[in-house]
Amino acid sequence: MSGRVMIVDPVSTNRIVLKVKLLAARYEVVPCASFSEALDKLEAETPDIILVEASQLADDLSTFVATLRASRLGESLPVLGLGHFENSADRLNTLLSGIDDILAKPYSDSLLQARIRSLLRARGDGQEPDLPDETRRALGFAESAAIFEPSGSVVIISAGELVGRRLALSIDRLRTGHAAVVEPERALEMRGSAVPDLFVIDARESRTRQAQDKVFHLIADLRSRSDTRHAAQLVVLPQTADDMAAMSLDLGASETIPAEADADELSHRVRALLARKGKLDRLRNTLRTGLEAAMTDPLTGLHNRRFAMSYLTGLAQRSFETGRSLAVMVLDIDHFKQVNDTYGHTVGDAVLVGVAELLRKNLRSVDLIARVGGEEFLVAMPEACADAARAAVERLRQRIGSTPFNHEGKEPVFITLSVGIAVAGPERPLNDLSAIESLLVQADGALYRSKTSGRNTVTLDQSAA
Ligand code: GH3
Ligand code: MG
Ligand code: MG
Repeated sequence: MSGRVMIVDPVSTNRIVLKVKLLAARYEVVPCASFSEALDKLEAETPDIILVEASQLADDLSTFVATLRASRLGESLPVLGLGHFENSADRLNTLLSGIDDILAKPYSDSLLQARIRSLLRARGDGQEPDLPDETRRALGFAESAAIFEPSGSVVIISAGELVGRRLALSIDRLRTGHAAVVEPERALEMRGSAVPDLFVIDARESRTRQAQDKVFHLIADLRSRSDTRHAAQLVVLPQTADDMAAMSLDLGASETIPAEADADELSHRVRALLARKGKLDRLRNTLRTGLEAAMTDPLTGLHNRRFAMSYLTGLAQRSFETGRSLAVMVLDIDHFKQVNDTYGHTVGDAVLVGVAELLRKNLRSVDLIARVGGEEFLVAMPEACADAARAAVERLRQRIGSTPFNHEGKEPVFITLSVGIAVAGPERPLNDLSAIESLLVQADGALYRSKTSGRNTVTLDQSAA
């Protein structure tokens, strides 16, 4: 993985040593001697991560992180603190400055690299798509990130029940509710809402090679299964375990913490991980609902025109490649303006929703159904020949024509449909991809003939493709 790493260290030999290590790992390096130099260079250098000498610069660290977080570029930039830490309280103090993680000196090169990789990965996952402001707003991304009190569920995975209990007690003191302790096998069986936001993997006693391998498998398994892959993972390691930490991070652990960490440090980590997990969940939801909205017609829930056109291009591509048929039809409600004029726009809307429902119920799941205009729908049936398409839509026309659309106890509304069909198939193959355009024009032409020949009718286009 490549990336730009900014180093902040007042000692020039430290900067040089670190720079050499990072260059060897193929990172680009931006060395800085002070926080002010780092802030000055931020805009021009756009680093992906910042490594800070956290012991010597401890006094100004919080101010630096606060300034960074307030800037557009530094808002979600990972900061890793390197330093000599006396004990858990010392580590917690440094973490409370708002940095993402710490690495105690002396650390192995492989651990440093694994931690940088995992922070860069987490940053990539948590980044909102780089879109113009208007698009972001339309997709539902908040103007500014609201601060949420971290909450979420925690499950401790421990092979030794008793050992796990002690961990559970410290986590229970958080406002996350009770942390259950389960065996590794049970964790892997968790599905759906049983999956917690955070797994704390108790590997404090995993000192043998065999025990460590089990932990590695567990981390990788949890990360790869669809049910558990979004859960955060915090691995509590044996006393000195740089190699194990590096491997855990590379396999997908979110963070590691040494066994001697006290309850306060543990609780800080749990809170931070839950907060980040919550942010990721919200991001995923926004993306999903935003995407759904972007391809859906809000009134009927059918696909919209934009989605229909690009989907149709895909169907045409397949038909073009395989020579199999593709039926395209345009359906338009007859005299719909009169429905609005007679009963009002709200009743008109309800009729549109009712028609959409009937279309969905009476067509196959492989068929594309879209609302492409006010009272105009588009249906595409892959692998349907002209006769089959015509028969299906004829049934549909009759059903819709005989369905009373009821509205609030008043007299039911009846409507009729006019339809135009054009079919590409073995006899009339799509010559090229742009032929889908002419197929649509032909369906429109057939619809026009349905309208001029008295409406409430289905016309199949007979012209040559
Ligand atoms: P034709 O048989 O020739 O298709 O006649 P028509 O009245 O259905 O067609 P026209 O294109 O003249 O009018 C379509 C009407 O559809 C006009 C418009 O008010 C109505 N309409 C379009 N979108 C909506 C909508 O979302 N809700 C409602 N209630 N009416 C709509
Ligand atoms: Mg109409
Ligand atoms: Mg129309």
